[in-house]
Amino acid sequence: MQNRSNRNVQAFALASLVTLIPAFSIAQENAVEYIATSLSPTVTMIKGRGGNIAVSAGEDGVFIIDDQMQPLTDQLLASIRQVSDQPIRFVINTHYHADHVGGNETIGKGGAVIIAHDNIRVRMSRDEFSNFMGNTTPAWPKDSLPVVTFNDQVTLHLNGEPVSVTHVPHGHTDGDSIVHFPASNVLHMGDIYFNGLYPYIDLDGGGSVQGMIAAVELGMSMADAETQVIPGHGPLSNLEGLNAYHAFLVAARDNVQALIDRGMTLEQAVAANPTAEWDEALGKIWITPEQLVIFIYNSLTGVDHFTALESQETTTE
Ligand SMILES: [Zn+2]
Repeated sequence: MQNRSNRNVQAFALASLVTLIPAFSIAQENAVEYIATSLSPTVTMIKGRGGNIAVSAGEDGVFIIDDQMQPLTDQLLASIRQVSDQPIRFVINTHYHADHVGGNETIGKGGAVIIAHDNIRVRMSRDEFSNFMGNTTPAWPKDSLPVVTFNDQVTLHLNGEPVSVTHVPHGHTDGDSIVHFPASNVLHMGDIYFNGLYPYIDLDGGGSVQGMIAAVELGMSMADAETQVIPGHGPLSNLEGLNAYHAFLVAARDNVQALIDRGMTLEQAVAANPTAEWDEALGKIWITPEQLVIFIYNSLTGVDHFTALESQETTTE
């Protein structure tokens, strides 16, 4: 916490730098390729830049799970129109990160109702500082905010199936949901599931490795051998992939817990390299081995990362 104001200054400086290079940003935006994969007669997965999206399109119209990053919304909408030219009726946000809620404002103004867990609206309504990112995401404009919020579960009875959106506490954040399309046999895990890379556990946002493991277990209980599993990031997966991810998370947690039990400090635990067996396959894409150990160690020691939201949440659940 002592570093907070310094980090804010650094983050502000970094943000200023970013605004100096718009040409680079535009080039990046232009480069986005959207890949749509049909998973059932109604459900399509869209990969672009940011979190993976699910689109349900059928007799009752269109709704989507997550809407990626704000500057790319027009491109995303064009890719959704390739699936269906019907208007988007609902958006479900799996959590509050900007690469999952960025399209809310434009799509909401277009007439869609944004649905999300209570804590997503709370976090989007205020400036959010991230120790991990070293920056502050400013409060989102009112039109970006979810207008229907829930504290446990909500079900959308659309396009021939009861689509359940279930809150999983303190996983990747404190506002994650996983979305189950039972007839399509599709599961959208949000950022509970990073497929093919180490997961980001947003401790500042109320996440923990314990909650992430519990959420993966809930997802596993909803899946069978035929289920198509959409991760928040990475390629389409299935129950086998989810099982393997679970085994990795549990083993990594156990390895770090063993070091804590031996009295190691965070620095000593990082130096002991308890994730060595997965580093080559999973630790070279985004989250580094050191960062993963910090997430797990801090989750297990339980200090200094859950915000006041936690006490709010326990009163609503
Ligand atoms: Zn995320």
